[in-house]
Amino acid sequence: MLVKTSRCAGWILSFLLIATLAFSQEQIRDSTYNADMKLFLVGLGEDTRVIIMPLCKKKIPGIWFVHVHEDESTAADAAIEFIDSTGAGCFVTLKHGMGRNISFNMKGKTYKFDPNRIYTAEGRKATLERFGAYSDSAFSAVSTLANFITSRFIDSNRLVVALHNNTNDGGLTIKSYQKGGDYQNDASKVFVNKKEDPDDFFYTTSLRAFDFFKEKGFNVLLQNNKTVTDDGSLSVYAGMKKIDYINIESEHLKKEQQKKMLAAAMDYIRVCFPPKPVADESDNGK
Ligand SMILES: [Zn+2]
Repeated sequence: MLVKTSRCAGWILSFLLIATLAFSQEQIRDSTYNADMKLFLVGLGEDTRVIIMPLCKKKIPGIWFVHVHEDESTAADAAIEFIDSTGAGCFVTLKHGMGRNISFNMKGKTYKFDPNRIYTAEGRKATLERFGAYSDSAFSAVSTLANFITSRFIDSNRLVVALHNNTNDGGLTIKSYQKGGDYQNDASKVFVNKKEDPDDFFYTTSLRAFDFFKEKGFNVLLQNNKTVTDDGSLSVYAGMKKIDYINIESEHLKKEQQKKMLAAAMDYIRVCFPPKPVADESDNGK
């Protein structure tokens, strides 16, 4: 399951209890973690409820840590432990039954999609078609989920920190974005530190983020917002909306590496997104 601490056992229990109820786009206040925690359920078709689970310690205004692939559990574990230990940050994850992709049944057909390919219309259509069945009503159902996530956790942000895991030498690495790589058109700048594992890298959408992580010696790429393939991923959506976006991509089971990268992301937040100064209300000119 997502986490192994006893505190999170309460979440799992909540998940099981709530999943049996027929809520659709309902908001539920959950008290197992703390007063700030709420769960949201979005219905898909006749039999699937996606649980959207936010966890907040002290909020950092305009910043969310976002985890959409349920099977990439190292990323979620690292983020939860990191936020717990630092006492600051808001994290949200999706739960739907463990795998990477989400499936649902509608009018006798089974549909399936990748929850990181649904944030543009083109991406939603492509991901449904890739896994088989497609219909306008299935597209509409997936749009409801995507719009719910973006309106609640993305659109009003100053920064989105996405969390993903890849596999050891399993295809996607920082080298995939270099000249000759499968995704060379998606990046305008790539920095590779040969001392670092190519599986571990930052994916950014702003030059200042790219420069920041390069300076720290991490593998990092800058998305080319003009030429990136519109695959419906959150990075493409953030690029379109001009929302600063970082993806911490690191190898599955390397939790300490993910935490090291989270700490660097927190440094970036401290430097580039300092808390807004509180106005001196006594200085009103009267
Ligand atoms: Zn992922």
